[in-house]
Amino acid sequence: MRSIWTDVEQWKADALADGWVQGERKEQYIKERFYATINLRPETDMLKAYCNVSIWGPDDLHIPVSYPYSWGKLQESLTICTICGKVGETVRLAFCNRVCPECRAKNLDEYERPGWCD
Ligand SMILES: [Zn+2]
Repeated sequence: MRSIWTDVEQWKADALADGWVQGERKEQYIKERFYATINLRPETDMLKAYCNVSIWGPDDLHIPVSYPYSWGKLQESLTICTICGKVGETVRLAFCNRVCPECRAKNLDEYERPGWCD
């Protein structure tokens, strides 16, 4: 049976084979100014198992992860709004959300409430 754990392990293996290298921290990986954190933490007595992949582009904005790993898809994601899915210019909303200028304008009040970045 496929599981998120298998997906993350495979994503990591494919990324390493595609030239991603480990950064300063053990979960951190880098390729051509893209960076990712890949967590594969087995269950212990104290902690539940935890696995996930988070990715940011060279512009420091988030990229949604998709499985299986695809370098082409990561690059395409730089121009996809994560709210409406439109392809084109993307800009920052709040900390690192990647959205089109229209979605930024529409959602600014909700995401960047007074004190949102305190
Ligand atoms: Zn949009």
